[in-house]
Amino acid sequence: MIDSKQFINTRHKNQKINYDNVLKELIKEWEKSELRPKLLIHSCCAPCSTYVLEYLSKYSDIAIFFSNSNIHPKEEYIKRMLVQKDFVEEFNKRNDTNVKFIADEYKPSNFIKAVKGLEKEREGGERCYVCYEMRLDNAAKKAIELDYDYFASALTLSPKKNAQVINESGYNLQEKISVYYLPSDFKKNNGYKRSIEMCEDYDIYRQCYCGCVFAATDQGIDLKEVNKTAKEFNRSHKDYDLYKSLLKN
Ligand code: SF4
Ligand code: SF4
Repeated sequence: MIDSKQFINTRHKNQKINYDNVLKELIKEWEKSELRPKLLIHSCCAPCSTYVLEYLSKYSDIAIFFSNSNIHPKEEYIKRMLVQKDFVEEFNKRNDTNVKFIADEYKPSNFIKAVKGLEKEREGGERCYVCYEMRLDNAAKKAIELDYDYFASALTLSPKKNAQVINESGYNLQEKISVYYLPSDFKKNNGYKRSIEMCEDYDIYRQCYCGCVFAATDQGIDLKEVNKTAKEFNRSHKDYDLYKSLLKN
């Protein structure tokens, strides 16, 4: 498989890297070599995965990996997971694709431990960098376990997420645990705009806070209400019983 790091090594040291261009160079190489790689793409809820699937399913076989122990409360985690699963199924139906959906276990204590001391950081700061890395690390390990060619994250679609930091974390993990990272900046090429259109088209739930209790509290989100609405949604979902076993805590 092709290591995209080679395209970065040709750039000047102090140049800000356009990871969207790096991804385009990588795709060109796949096409030249007639490769159709297997990608394991982390996603934290359905909206960011919309455009990512539309873009990459042309060139690769994809599994969407839902691994987000940062999300609070538990009922909201289940809701976002079910919405993500429903979207993947509907996307496959409409586009005749075979995108897989993989859900990770919910282990909120791992997130709480990882961000200890960073609880008061603003959204977009150091706590988020640790949070990105935790989820990328899970994706990298899952990619190895299931024999995928690359791991990636749909997080770079969001304008609120720092694509430079996410990509640097991805490449650090590539070095550390020997699995290729797929670089991205999915918000480019109108990716973010397209995700909003697709959310409307597929009628996808868009959450009103990023995920963790700290950001939600800062934003003044009524978490009791979030919990209540999510619980109602989950209990009426046909697959609720199937997925609730993933929730050990
Ligand atoms: S960045 Fe926000 S909108 Fe995008 S998948 Fe994550 S929680 Fe959803
Ligand atoms: S604000 Fe979002 S990215 Fe930042 S730590 Fe909380 S859940 Fe993670």
